[in-house]
Amino acid sequence: MAYPKQHSPLGIPGTAVFYILLAASLFAAASLAACAGDPRENLRLVSAPEERDLREFRRGGPAAQHLVFIGLDGWGAAYVPRAKMPTVKRMIAQGSSAMNARAVLPTVSWPNWSSLFSGAPPELRTAKDFPSIFTLLKKQKPGGGAALFYEWGPLEDLCGGEEADKGRILSNEESARKVAAYIREKKPSLTAVVFNEPDGTGHSKRWGSRAYYGVLAELDGFIAAIEEAVREAGIYDSTVFMVSSDHGGTFWGHGYNIRKQREIPLVVYGGGIREGYVLSSPVSICDLAPTMALILGLEIPREWTGRPLTEIFK
Ligand SMILES: [Zn+2]
Repeated sequence: MAYPKQHSPLGIPGTAVFYILLAASLFAAASLAACAGDPRENLRLVSAPEERDLREFRRGGPAAQHLVFIGLDGWGAAYVPRAKMPTVKRMIAQGSSAMNARAVLPTVSWPNWSSLFSGAPPELRTAKDFPSIFTLLKKQKPGGGAALFYEWGPLEDLCGGEEADKGRILSNEESARKVAAYIREKKPSLTAVVFNEPDGTGHSKRWGSRAYYGVLAELDGFIAAIEEAVREAGIYDSTVFMVSSDHGGTFWGHGYNIRKQREIPLVVYGGGIREGYVLSSPVSICDLAPTMALILGLEIPREWTGRPLTEIFK
């Protein structure tokens, strides 16, 4: 897969798409301004980072011993309802979820996976010395152990080798078994797994095609295998699962500010997480790392502008 992954979604010339989107954005902004009563209702106001973090800490996250993050590249929220994903849907029913979490722009892989693990949008981050969930864990819980399993090559740069064990995988059953075996043996604090599907199938067969849904069903089986490994490792009751994505897609591509490309699912399930709860407040992909930190009982660095989703905790 070429880097960066960026594809024309509709076959419309880029300049035309730009002007259409610009006009739509101006119209939306004007509509918002027109209907605003108390402007604070339309803004996500947050207090200064240090004040906010301490307050959230005192409220007390669940501080689970283990977190398993599973990312499915190109899994748009629009494709959840029709998908045959019994494992994920059980986690949605018994956990907390958002089906309108927002990817950052452009809706391509690198800015989004890096924002997801680093708690801030690309424009606020420097190249290599910005804290990620991996550096946070290494610093604050050095004995905990972390692993990153990735399929798309550039994701290797999400963390240094000293911060986590790293393993290259494929979107196949053998790789799912490899991850499962690692969890059984090492029982790390954080296991992050990023499959490169259904993105590949979206590009070759179309987002929302039979093949796209087919690969989603297959990925659900991999998630089930990983969940089973957590059970066999004897750490199920102290583990939280998080399943999400980097962007969605339409037709044969993604890269634009279109709802089906922008909206991603977020599913959080496990001990201490509210059951059957649907997040009503806006969720950014930048909120995932602070939420992971809170789940693992880590202090959130002030560089992270994403907010921990404290409402998902019991
Ligand atoms: Zn792609």
